[in-house]
Amino acid sequence: ENKLQLVHRRVRAFPDFPKTGVLFRDICPILKDPAALTAVIDLFEEHVRKKHEQVDLIIGLDARGFLFGPLLAQRLGVGFVLIRKKGKLPGATVSVAYDLEYGKAEVEVQEDAVAEGQKVLLIDDLLATGGTMSAAVELVKKQQAQVLDCLVLVELKELNGRDKLKPHGVFSLLQY
Ligand code: 5GP
Repeated sequence: ENKLQLVHRRVRAFPDFPKTGVLFRDICPILKDPAALTAVIDLFEEHVRKKHEQVDLIIGLDARGFLFGPLLAQRLGVGFVLIRKKGKLPGATVSVAYDLEYGKAEVEVQEDAVAEGQKVLLIDDLLATGGTMSAAVELVKKQQAQVLDCLVLVELKELNGRDKLKPHGVFSLLQY
């Protein structure tokens, strides 16, 4: 069984969660299986080493980006930074507001977390509409850093998040 199959086998689908009509992709079984979790980080690492000569920082999105980001950062020998939902980070922060299906949300990063000119990779568990990832990209740009790529385990293709993120690239392990 190859690495991708190992990962694929550990993603479950739950119909009508968190609301009717949504098919939720649950990545929790990956975390329970050390071989699958290692495969995820291996696959991301292989991609990054092949595609990017220099990476300065991995930035994870609240909350499941925090599960994979630090492991990848350790592999690459770089630091990890958190982008959080509003109100969770102490000290001076920079924020970006974005639209949800109903209402608005805001993401934040600590002002001193990202330096001007740094080359960063963003990571989350899943790309749906791309709204969350786009807000994260904007936040990194506000700090005058450069987004190299957006990494996700799962991409929901029909929601076209990839188009929303252009010209930034999306690398996904699994597509549905
Ligand atoms: P977007 O902003 O691209 O529409 O939604 C992506 C965000 O919502 C990600 O942070 C992701 O964790 C969460 N999300 C949306 N749908 C799912 C899903 O089916 N499974 C998981 N694991 N996360 C989801």
